Amino acid sequence: MRAGILWADRYESGMGSLGFQWAWDRLNVPAVVSCERFFNIVQDAATSARPDRRRPSSAGARAGGGGPAPVSLETGRPLGGCDLLLASISYELDFPALARMLAAGGVEPERERRDVDGPAVVVGGPLTRANALPLGALADVVVVGDGEPAMDALLAHIRSGGTTDAGSVVQALQGVAGVWIPALDAMPPPPCEAGASCLPVVSAVATPHSSFPDLTLVEISRGCPKSCTFCLGRKPDVVPQGNPVLRTASTDSILAALPPDCKGAGIIGAALSFHPGLETILEWLAARGLKAGLSSLRADRVTPELARLLKATGGEVLTVAADGISERVRAGIRKDVAEEELLRCAALGKQAGIHALKLYAMVGLPGETDQDVLEFADLLNRLNAQLPVIASLSVFVPKKGTPLESAPFGPVGAVADRLRRLRRSCSGGIRFNRVSPREAELQWVFDHASQEDGVRMIRTAVKRGSA
Ligand code: SF4
Repeated sequence: MRAGILWADRYESGMGSLGFQWAWDRLNVPAVVSCERFFNIVQDAATSARPDRRRPSSAGARAGGGGPAPVSLETGRPLGGCDLLLASISYELDFPALARMLAAGGVEPERERRDVDGPAVVVGGPLTRANALPLGALADVVVVGDGEPAMDALLAHIRSGGTTDAGSVVQALQGVAGVWIPALDAMPPPPCEAGASCLPVVSAVATPHSSFPDLTLVEISRGCPKSCTFCLGRKPDVVPQGNPVLRTASTDSILAALPPDCKGAGIIGAALSFHPGLETILEWLAARGLKAGLSSLRADRVTPELARLLKATGGEVLTVAADGISERVRAGIRKDVAEEELLRCAALGKQAGIHALKLYAMVGLPGETDQDVLEFADLLNRLNAQLPVIASLSVFVPKKGTPLESAPFGPVGAVADRLRRLRRSCSGGIRFNRVSPREAELQWVFDHASQEDGVRMIRTAVKRGSA
């Protein structure tokens, strides 16, 4: 059986996504399923220096946007001949591109216009936690939250000889945790939170394109014991009994899962710094001369030892999140990280010989004022005096399912002004990323869209693609 897995963005970002790699790897069942990858944009030359070892050199195409039909990396064959189609989607603005990829490949992107005897279209990924509703306009099955139970059920169905047309797959997956069948239910279920037994998840290939180039990606934990009001990964106000909020893989299982020839581990998890074995893992890597990549750490959990181990495993940047730009704004979103903690991190980083402090923060949170902007500029200047700062800014987008879901967005002009004022108020030497308030507004529109809006988005995307 031939399955296709779609990523509606570049090859590089798809292969850098552990979720995409996981789904692709699990669906490749020798002698049963051959799963081929389709990307929206593939540039042959850009990836040829250190190619993905499973990737044939002849493949590559740009799909959608009126371009040629997408072909798979593995065989160069078109999307249209697949028996089953899966897509992993992580970003709101990739939804139109996904619709265009399907249309360009000869697959009707609107669910209600497709034949149930045709290949099932199954969509999952991080975006389902933000708002699954518009995805229901496109997918026969939407997997909301963690995908392990749905993948197990799908593979069991295929192994038992089940067919992969939309009608059969819908029947096979109905009732599985996190599975939404838009043709049968108006509203998606709550996101599936799979247990710790599915951890660690390890990447199928190490690629130069991930945030941790050439390292094996390993997910060591899910969930977070904190309750920041803007965050989709927060601890719920009411925790279901017997369902631990923070799920962690054992340290032994993480170390055992790393391939013997790996160059190191890109360690992934929403609340990494709460993993009880984090320092042991880093020590183990450091003792073998291996590298570690760590996503953002809670500033109040960074210890001198953690900073030392980060440096010992090749880390040059200590990454922490302020999220709110002032003490007052942080208190309002229940981000209990004080300014002193951030200053302490800069000092610890410097002491450990780390080169920079990367600080995440959002602009546009409810109640924010110009005074908060000045307070943040002052903090950035003081941090930068200790350790060069990389300010990684974004625009606050109220997410459905969080206490801030009804908070106002922007407006774009006001947020852009605030970002400009912030940059102007900072002394030289601080590095800022590019931020697009307009893109954030489009994310917000998607995050609050209905299934009917999803239909409209698909039609507009396909129309633009074929214009
Ligand atoms: S922002 Fe970070 S600390 Fe806060 S709930 Fe989300 S993952 Fe946890």
